[in-house]
Amino acid sequence: MLRFLLFFFLLIASAWGAEKKIPILCYHRFGPEVADSMTIKNSAFAEQLAWLKANGYTVIPLDTAMRHLKGEVKPIPAKPVVITVDDGHKSVYSDMAPLVKQYKIPVTLFVYPSAISNAKYAMSWEQLRELETTKLFRVESHTYWHPNFNHEKKKLSAAEYEKFVDKQLAGAKKKLEERMGHEVKYLAWVFGIYDDELERKAAQAGYVSALTIDRAHASSAKKMTSQPRYMVVDRHDLKAFARMVDGTEDRMPPSKKEVIRY
Ligand SMILES: [Zn+2]
Repeated sequence: MLRFLLFFFLLIASAWGAEKKIPILCYHRFGPEVADSMTIKNSAFAEQLAWLKANGYTVIPLDTAMRHLKGEVKPIPAKPVVITVDDGHKSVYSDMAPLVKQYKIPVTLFVYPSAISNAKYAMSWEQLRELETTKLFRVESHTYWHPNFNHEKKKLSAAEYEKFVDKQLAGAKKKLEERMGHEVKYLAWVFGIYDDELERKAAQAGYVSALTIDRAHASSAKKMTSQPRYMVVDRHDLKAFARMVDGTEDRMPPSKKEVIRY
């Protein structure tokens, strides 16, 4: 019996050791009030950061997490979590950054170059560069102009679509590298849309990894071109937030009705 238990324990332990898993969070906008479904209240975000700290979590850079999943970086803190923000909204600069600086946590910003220093809601190149000087923020790619690949695929011929995808993936990478002055290694799929062809194109364009919003832990057992994230919005209370980072939601996903996809 004892021998059986020991065998069972070793089996579980080796299975655990084999698969590396890390929760990656995805935010969009911040503000004193909830202006829309994509905005999280500053106070709620502050509460989440305090909760992470109080519960022994360490926010690690996306690059460290991805390299760990690939077996390049070990060890990492026992309770790691990654924070990412999509779209480059100006409230990242005005509302999120003060909290990031207070807690000294690394944050990855997925932005699309067509909006930067252009769209009213977006940050400027100067603001992005200023955030990077803190060494807490890192800018990565969210395609060139945030298209819906499903719509474009229907509209365009096969050859046109291929060119379009190249512009959105390789073109965005090149533009961001020029503007930010550093290598761009990561991509966040827009609207969470991706397929085998897009994943192949992302790898071809030189991205180390691409991220979805499929609500699960990123894992060494998953493809690097479709590593999942949890989108966090204001209606997630601390209990729901804890379920994301502690892996409960990954093991027991909520019903389809409960899942928010954008
Ligand atoms: Zn987006």
